[in-house]
Amino acid sequence: MTKVEKISIVGAGLVGSLMSVYLAKRGYKVSLFESRPDLRKADISAGRSINLALSNRGWLPLQEVGLKEKAEELTIPMKGRMMHNEEGQLTFQPYGKSGQAIYSISRGGLNALLLDAAEANGVEIFFNQKCNEVDLNNNILHFEDKKVSSDIIIGADGAFSIIRQAMEHTSRFNYSQQYLEHGYKELSIPPTATNGFKIDKNSLHIWPRGNFMLIALPNLDGSFTCTLFYPFEGEQSFENLQSDEDITAFFKKQFPDAYELMPDLLNDFHSNPTSALVTVRSSPWHKNQSLLIGDAAHAIVPFYGQGMNCGFEDCRVLNDLLNKHDDHWDLVLPEYSKIRKPDGDAISDLALKNFIEMRDQVADESFLLRKKIEAKLHELYPEKWIPLYSMVTFNENIRYSQAADFGKLQSEIMDKVMATPNIESQWEQLDFESIVNQLPPMV
Ligand SMILES: Cc1cc2nc3c(=O)[nH]c(=O)nc-3n(C[C@H](O)[C@H](O)[C@H](O)COP(=O)(O)OP(=O)(O)OC[C@H]3O[C@@H](n4cnc5c(N)ncnc54)[C@H](O)[C@@H]3O)c2cc1C
Repeated sequence: MTKVEKISIVGAGLVGSLMSVYLAKRGYKVSLFESRPDLRKADISAGRSINLALSNRGWLPLQEVGLKEKAEELTIPMKGRMMHNEEGQLTFQPYGKSGQAIYSISRGGLNALLLDAAEANGVEIFFNQKCNEVDLNNNILHFEDKKVSSDIIIGADGAFSIIRQAMEHTSRFNYSQQYLEHGYKELSIPPTATNGFKIDKNSLHIWPRGNFMLIALPNLDGSFTCTLFYPFEGEQSFENLQSDEDITAFFKKQFPDAYELMPDLLNDFHSNPTSALVTVRSSPWHKNQSLLIGDAAHAIVPFYGQGMNCGFEDCRVLNDLLNKHDDHWDLVLPEYSKIRKPDGDAISDLALKNFIEMRDQVADESFLLRKKIEAKLHELYPEKWIPLYSMVTFNENIRYSQAADFGKLQSEIMDKVMATPNIESQWEQLDFESIVNQLPPMV
């Protein structure tokens, strides 16, 4: 490969912007192309989640590019799940050990911070530039009014990536896309009259209702962004929530405490879109001198709060490989595809499974006991037994694929533990050492 100097990134969302900062810091001439206007000047939030949960795998890359402190100013820690039952009773489940939290952050605020950092590091950003086509053999991007050639092309253009679409037409490229039967709609709980929070600000709130759920994440202005995950079609579905009466009756019955806090419910419900949730799998994540990062490579459902975190980790892994191979991209690209793909697949599967846990099991007594026993194992043997959620969320040194493999073994062991007679009353007498010793050592 000729010496790489000029890199073009398509998509200035969260992941493309972060990647541009990493690469500009390495001395490359980086151009970032974004189809939409500059979000720092125009409100383009419609249709995407307003806030996201940032966790360790996202924090580490932000720290590496020097943005951790600035990002911290945009966040609210969420230390656990606050479950709301049909009567409005609350149960709090910590996410991890004391001091561990996931962080609610504004998508727009974080994206703006990354764009500022990109510009400050010399990245040239071109807004309102939709890439229509890519020539993967000659490294040329086509826009409405120009063609751009580069040494490397990075597709960071999201779940419906134009760069990936070009790869789909090449030999031995695998691709699949799967929609969930559920869609989502964003709603809101406004702040109190004095800009305070109407419910606990340091929790991720969940109203689990079996086949569907409502969640809420806090915003710095005292409001909460709520998301209703609900089937598109069927008896209980968005299709059957049309009239004001239907919507009001549904919320009063299913989420009575939330309903009381949502004065703009009907307006939000009618004006905000009902959006689809897609899982995209592809491989390899590179073709010739082009590669995919973030949702372009691996769009996942949001139930582990890992889509952006995983995309940020892609950037860190790519940067580590550039270090390892002294910027020899011909070595970096195949290795990136090889090591990242199993991790993308693992988090994709875990995210799908976690939907069932969040909407259904978190309210189940036996599930809660299981979690309690696992927490005890972790407390007694912190290095040996790390709960799956903690491996994924708080342990950026454990790969997603390793976490998934370990989680499977833990689950098999816990199935046996939960079958112990009278486990509800006897669990504190379990032989915790023999349980933990059933696991192979973590390497
Ligand atoms: C409801 C919901 C909640 C979520 N919650 C979380 C969470 O809590 N934690 C978490 O980690 N993740 C979460 N995610 C996932 C997260 O939003 C994505 O993983 C993340 O936005 C991916 O970033 P990206 O930059 O790869 O893609 P995108 O954010 O999709 O950005 C792609 C960019 O490319 C641009 N673009 C697209 N096509 C072109 C083109 N042809 N030419 C030029 N530009 C183009 C787009 O305009 C866009 O700006 C959530 C997702 C959803 C839907």
